[in-house]
Amino acid sequence: MDYDDYGSNAVELAIDLANADRTDSWVPEFLTAHDEWFTDGTALELSARQARAVAETADLVREVALAESQDEVVARLNALLAMAAPKPYATDHDGELHLHYAAAEAGALEQLTTTVAMGLSQVVVQHGWQRLGVCAAEGCGNVYVDTSRNASRRYCSNTCASRSSVAAYRARQRS
Ligand SMILES: [Zn+2]
Ligand SMILES: [Zn+2]
Repeated sequence: MDYDDYGSNAVELAIDLANADRTDSWVPEFLTAHDEWFTDGTALELSARQARAVAETADLVREVALAESQDEVVARLNALLAMAAPKPYATDHDGELHLHYAAAEAGALEQLTTTVAMGLSQVVVQHGWQRLGVCAAEGCGNVYVDTSRNASRRYCSNTCASRSSVAAYRARQRS
């Protein structure tokens, strides 16, 4: 998925976090799999308390996507932003000029919560809260950002979209 139009790749991190499978060791696994979001040399080991804050952040992202009114979105977004400690700076470390939201020397948890909160907030504020949704495919429940021109997306992925149209086709055949 290409979020370039959204001016914030950071929303990808928020979506991945909300959709992470919560096995026993999911927090260290998630951080390691997303280490490109952290300043080089950031220690990715978290305490149990910090790992709970990661789970809480993931819950809040999902709650923002599930919100059904702008008032709900604002309240949930602000709860998420309260966990952030923004200290933005511009960088071209990967060859393209972009913003990082957390201080380079911040700990892993602070970098994560700040990047997630700022990335998600930017998309909601610039493009509207209706752009966030939860996949309509049976048994999926993944959160997504709708980057389609007419905001018509209902599924997290092409896989879920085609799985659902096949299911709908079979249901029509049966009836
Ligand atoms: Zn970067
Ligand atoms: Zn899905």
